Amino acid sequence: MASISLDKVRNIGIIAHIDAGKTTTTERVLLYTGITHKIGEVHNGEATMDWMEQEKERGITITSAATTCFWKKDNIKYNINIIDTPGHVDFTMEVERSLRVLDGGVTVIDASQGAEPQTETVWRQADKYEVPRIIFANKLDKTGGDFYMSIASVRERLSPKAYAIQLPIGSESEFSGVIDLVQMKAFTFEGTAGEKVVEIPFPEDMRAKAEQYREELVEKVAEASDELMSKYLEGEEITIPELKAGIRKLTSNVELFPMLCGTALQNMGVPLVLDAAIDYLPSPLDVPPMEGMDPKTNEVLIRRADEKEPTSALAFKIMADPYVGRLTFVRVYSGVLESGSYVYNPVSRKKERVGRLLQMHANNRTEVSSIPAGHIGAVVGLKSTKTGETLCDEDNHIVLESMEFPEPVISLSIEPKTKPDQEKLGLSLSKLSEEDPTFRVRTDDETGQTVISGMGELHLDIIVDRLRREFKVEANVGAPQVAYRETIQKEVRTEEKYSKQTGGRGQYGHVVMNMIPGEPGTGYEFINSIKGGSIPNEYIPAVDKGIKEAITKGVVAGFPMVDIKVELIDGTYHDVDSSEFAFKAAGSIAFQKGARAASPVLLEPIMAVESVTPEEYMGDVMGDISSRRGSIEKMGDRGTAKTIIAKVPLASMFGYATDLRSMTQGRASFSMTFSHYDKVPNSVAEKIKEERGQK
Ligand code: GDP
Repeated sequence: MASISLDKVRNIGIIAHIDAGKTTTTERVLLYTGITHKIGEVHNGEATMDWMEQEKERGITITSAATTCFWKKDNIKYNINIIDTPGHVDFTMEVERSLRVLDGGVTVIDASQGAEPQTETVWRQADKYEVPRIIFANKLDKTGGDFYMSIASVRERLSPKAYAIQLPIGSESEFSGVIDLVQMKAFTFEGTAGEKVVEIPFPEDMRAKAEQYREELVEKVAEASDELMSKYLEGEEITIPELKAGIRKLTSNVELFPMLCGTALQNMGVPLVLDAAIDYLPSPLDVPPMEGMDPKTNEVLIRRADEKEPTSALAFKIMADPYVGRLTFVRVYSGVLESGSYVYNPVSRKKERVGRLLQMHANNRTEVSSIPAGHIGAVVGLKSTKTGETLCDEDNHIVLESMEFPEPVISLSIEPKTKPDQEKLGLSLSKLSEEDPTFRVRTDDETGQTVISGMGELHLDIIVDRLRREFKVEANVGAPQVAYRETIQKEVRTEEKYSKQTGGRGQYGHVVMNMIPGEPGTGYEFINSIKGGSIPNEYIPAVDKGIKEAITKGVVAGFPMVDIKVELIDGTYHDVDSSEFAFKAAGSIAFQKGARAASPVLLEPIMAVESVTPEEYMGDVMGDISSRRGSIEKMGDRGTAKTIIAKVPLASMFGYATDLRSMTQGRASFSMTFSHYDKVPNSVAEKIKEERGQK
């Protein structure tokens, strides 16, 4: 890896929602890059063709979290690492996790649909991490495929900073090539799978239009520097290299999104998407250095993409591999990760031995001796490193920005269909939860059942499906359960004198505390305001511990309590009879008493839902949302369709996908993300309490 200088490296993701053509596009990329790779070795057109046919038949599989490939442009070899980004909204955290480690993205849209609501969701996530992007308007061959409509809808729904750097020649079934607006040249695609870019005569009937779009692009690019701007204003010619450099700069700064077009399925356009990724997306040297924190002092530390800096790397994905076992995918931000060396994990506080290092390719893998800064690869043999954790130099500790993972909002019970599968189920689930921090497994204390939790119905569906397909465990699952919470609504003072005299040594602990409703999202906070030693210091942590135990099982219906501040203000103790146990019990009982007196309520997760529907179904869709206890916040237009933005309790969203489909003949779509927790209305709360009581 070290033989390729960092300016020739691109760490990119192909970002799209399901069905836009991400798989087809990625397959073409791997096929073409595979060819360049092979051409070097074979020097024989025939052999290349054979190989291509074979690959086409077998189908290239992309199952890796990061696939390394090579692309030659102007006879220079570039290393492109493609980081897999899942396309469904239920995988918000998976997407975000991979977005952190890439430097740029190719957003694929379906040019017959323009920017769809789910495109918007994945786009906003990339916005959050300020990922530079180029846009590939795919499926131009399809009926309705329209690049100009796509530009308009991207500008309206995703960003006004999208500018065409290509125009299509012909459209739908007549689509035959593209005009490159930067060079003002026309190209078509030939070869077995469209890998050959062939220049064709410029279609003169399109010149005026091409000049108009080029002018628009040049005007935008002039913003890149004062020099360009004054040249532009004085009417001087901006050269092609200047234009390219300007596009590159603005794209890197997320001030411009170049738009390209083609059809992956019909083998047109993808080679130029790769060229554009090289020309316009940043290398690891072009992005800001990584920031982290000294785990001891919390001081901010900077790590540059330089092999001479102390080593730091982020584990962004863990996968079970059939050949080598556990694979940890890392991006190395600074220094060099060497096979056989030791690194430190400041989160688990463990030293880890780096085993073999692998680079994953489309259909094979190569072993490497080191992964230098700016590169991505997989480590075999790490034992105690989870997704999102840092690996660093043993003498230079750093925690790279921690990832935030939301708490799961939905859970269901799961049991194997056959007894012998019990153990296999446990092992498989724990593997899956290591891979995915938003997926949790626990055993219910009361029922003894295994309960899995995640971010949505579909998230758990996919887990159950993976159990069957990858781990060969058949399981029965219960109905999905909402992750309710409880909280208090008013401030109270509470007191408990825990005192037992049962022969021998007694028990004595006495606490007085205030319970105060906290801000949403603050969880539990303990404040020690004991003055003058009314409770000795040694017993105070025990009070906190008692509360922590009580808080996991709320007084309304046994759900965890959140957003409560407890201030310990007074108490008494006994020289002989006081113990940690007694103070723990006192804390726990005082908390429960207080919670009952403080108007406790049930909270439920509320989801932000956006439905997009043809106008004729608008009334039905809105009525349905209301009947699900939803409140409509905004309505709007999306091209010819209508959008409805609403807040709806998760509990009433079960089966929504199916209902929406049947209500609208399959023409509406929706997306949903967690918004916040809110009070459950009394009538609903009564039902939940009843259900819990019956269990
Ligand atoms: P993904 O879900 O985003 O990975 O999308 P796929 O690559 O699996 O494509 C979804 C569907 O669109 C498949 O049926 C593809 O054959 C089809 N498709 C992909 N690219 C094109 C294209 O350029 N033109 C047309 N007409 N269909 C395409």
